[in-house]
Amino acid sequence: MKQITVLGSTGTIGLNTLAVIEANPNLYEVFALSANTNIVSLEQQCRVFRPKYAVLREKSIALELAARISDLSTVVLGGEESLCDVASHSEVDIVMAAIVGAAGLKPTLEAVRTGGRVLLANKEALVMSGSLFISEVNNYSTTLLPIDSEHNAIYQCLANGAKNHCSGVERLILTGSGGPFLRLDKHNMGSVTPRDACAHPNWKMGRKISVDSASMLNKGLELLEARLLFDIPAASIDVVIHPESIVHSMVEYKDGSIIAQMGNPDMRIPIAHGLAWPDRTTSAASRLDLTKKSLHFEEPDYTRFPCLSIAREVAQEPQSHSIALNAANEVAVEAFLNELISFIDIPIIIQQVLEKTKAEEVHTIETVFELDGKARKLATERIRHVL
Ligand code: NDP
Repeated sequence: MKQITVLGSTGTIGLNTLAVIEANPNLYEVFALSANTNIVSLEQQCRVFRPKYAVLREKSIALELAARISDLSTVVLGGEESLCDVASHSEVDIVMAAIVGAAGLKPTLEAVRTGGRVLLANKEALVMSGSLFISEVNNYSTTLLPIDSEHNAIYQCLANGAKNHCSGVERLILTGSGGPFLRLDKHNMGSVTPRDACAHPNWKMGRKISVDSASMLNKGLELLEARLLFDIPAASIDVVIHPESIVHSMVEYKDGSIIAQMGNPDMRIPIAHGLAWPDRTTSAASRLDLTKKSLHFEEPDYTRFPCLSIAREVAQEPQSHSIALNAANEVAVEAFLNELISFIDIPIIIQQVLEKTKAEEVHTIETVFELDGKARKLATERIRHVL
């Protein structure tokens, strides 16, 4: 039985991970679960999966959960250090890194430093720490399996991500559904609501990534993620809009062959791949019937979705700009979800923060956090100007 820690178990990826674990009771056991504040959901999960540990971000909230589940043997902990402990515990075989945003970086890095298996959903952690993160993966010979459906698809198309995987590769083709505003006129984008932005046509996701998908910054983050994961220049990564979300991404080889990975848009599929790799196991997802589908592909519109072109530029720039892009976006998305700024302010705020951020390479994780904090402060100031 493989022991699994699920960081961010109450989120969309966390729930899907638990669904795959539940579909494979003879293969996986939950070692630890974690959440930010959602003790109702975490209590329910503890009752079903009986983990050894349940961790909350704040110690005060942990005390509340401990009182609610005092009849269980689960040990309830609070604070970032405890998150890091359950991510790097010697009894753990696989860590699912599914905390949203920069908050996931420290525990994910701790998991990487065990040299075990890390399933990476938390793309922001990789984007902000860049080659420092990849160096740690290499230093500890960690098995890092991408869970983002696009990167998981590419991993599968690259013969299971074998070493020197990009030799013979002409380009990676990241597909994207285009999100809920694919056909929306530019002039109407200023009046969309958080609810509109979170109504993704194909995927059910957390609110932050839903807004990122609507602005297409998500595809931009994925571009930054892909260049790090697969060690390939951003210029060799294309983005193609594919509204049906059936082809999850493709690899084009030098001889003209294009290998694609397909499946219904269901995150249980890449999660099952990551859990079972190099074997295969059931995901309990419904089967794809291609006779009932039409597949379409088109160029992205970089004018209506400026976040995508900003990310393309950042991909050519030193690491401090990836950190600033990610931090400014997290702050701007939060402000949009709280109805403080409009949807079209998001790229403006990101651009303004980038303009005020010195372009420099980053050599330590401490500097990553320092620059992340600076960019958040700048973004918050810019939001005050908008108000
Ligand atoms: P959700 O918002 O649904 O869930 C986030 C999880 O992280 C929750 O368990 C939440 O706890 C926890 N969390 C939030 N903030 C903190 C914090 N400060 N400290 C500790 N835990 C925290 O997000 P998703 O599941 O949609 O996404 C998770 C990650 O996976 C993101 O990085 C996203 O980009 C990536 N991803 C998601 C996909 C999807 O289909 N959803 C697809 C590909 C990648 P609580 O419930 O208490 O708030």
